[in-house]
Amino acid sequence: MFKIGLGYDIHKLTEGRDLIIGGVKITHEKGLLGHSDADVLVHAIIDALLGAAGMADIGTLFPDTDPKYKDADSIVLMKKVYELIKSKGYKINNIDSNIIAQAPKMMPYIPKMKEVIAKTLELEIENISIKAKTKEKLDAVGEKLAIESNAAVLLEKENK
Ligand code: ZN
Repeated sequence: MFKIGLGYDIHKLTEGRDLIIGGVKITHEKGLLGHSDADVLVHAIIDALLGAAGMADIGTLFPDTDPKYKDADSIVLMKKVYELIKSKGYKINNIDSNIIAQAPKMMPYIPKMKEVIAKTLELEIENISIKAKTKEKLDAVGEKLAIESNAAVLLEKENK
């Protein structure tokens, strides 16, 4: 049995924050604003995983009103979600994702992001796709005010 999930996220770029995407610190004059580390890619993947498993979304699971998740490492949250879906008998088949940012260039960081995500989710690198896109200078993302991400995952469950 296969189950597909779709995740989306957006965070505002602001001064005085580190830019962390896909669990990797990226050199940039601004970072993403959020209650946690605001890792937009990892949040999209988390929501796709939860969606595929038919579970509550990331905001319900890790509320931004909870001080426990202030500046939380999103990779740790993704690991928790992975353990949850694994306990329900699912395994991840593959992940496809986009990072939509006008700046900075994501390409140099993608191999490391894949490595971090593969390790966290016990996946082969070839089963993780991360694509970098710009917004063609359109809207808030195109004006470098925000970074967006979306992700699709396929979960597999053994029929017992
Ligand atoms: Zn987020």
